[in-house]
Amino acid sequence: MSQIADWLCEADQVVAFTGAGISTESGIPDFRSPNGVWATNRQIDFQEFLSSADGRYEYWRQKSLAHRAFHDAQPNIGHRVLVRWEQQGKLRGVITQNIDGLHQLAGNSVVHELHGTARDIACLSCSYRTPADPLVEQFLKTDLVPDCPECGRLLKHATVSFGQSLPEEAFEASVDLARTSDLFFVLGSSLVVYPAAGIPQVAKQSGARLVIINRDETPLDGIADAVIRSSIGETLAAIDRAMSAT
Ligand code: NAD
Repeated sequence: MSQIADWLCEADQVVAFTGAGISTESGIPDFRSPNGVWATNRQIDFQEFLSSADGRYEYWRQKSLAHRAFHDAQPNIGHRVLVRWEQQGKLRGVITQNIDGLHQLAGNSVVHELHGTARDIACLSCSYRTPADPLVEQFLKTDLVPDCPECGRLLKHATVSFGQSLPEEAFEASVDLARTSDLFFVLGSSLVVYPAAGIPQVAKQSGARLVIINRDETPLDGIADAVIRSSIGETLAAIDRAMSAT
């Protein structure tokens, strides 16, 4: 821990790349752990959403139930340490695969959402976009998939489904941050979802130290400067304490 705290003291371009694992300590299940979302839900990819009314219903059903869990979730100590590092002028930005909005709720100001946000619903055909809460509650009451009130076409959470392309601006800004980073943290990602998982490799190839904090092994452990297989909240808090003590 003290080695990473020393790296943090030396660094001034710190970047955090986060996945579902940073939010499990806020009570939001990840995808691939034994009690994760895929253990209990069928995955609806973008093609199925577009082509099948049953697929859209199942998508809305899963997302609406998940939304209630999100809704009350609060940032945890891991999120809060990242805010502190930003306030200290260390952390340049957060690149997240998460769709829960907890980094912004905690207070980080530079957050690139690679997979969009579940806090909004957007039309796939026109520019209509609206907070998710009312439409989710409407679906849970009526059991009917809503249509766009502007153009009558398909409404979907403003998240990136499998098979859907990433928001270009967020991806490019993330690659830029990775290129200029001198210390890059991966926090709670299995690093198997591409192209997002390529971003830590860009940071490493550009000369950053790479630190992975993740309970399970990842395919990038072999190129990391440090790997810690432990709780993200406890580990970040311990690094933060060690940094304050130096
Ligand atoms: P993932 O489920 O594939 O991997 C999460 C990793 O975090 C696992 O390897 C697990 O070992 C680790 N982990 C879980 N809790 C941890 C903890 N407390 N401390 C340390 N490690 C912990 O998630 P991913 O890599 O983010 O990729 C899958 C996709 O999941 C993303 O595209 C994201 O959009 C989506 N997702 C997001 C949320 C969210 O927004 N909170 C929740 C579920 C899934």
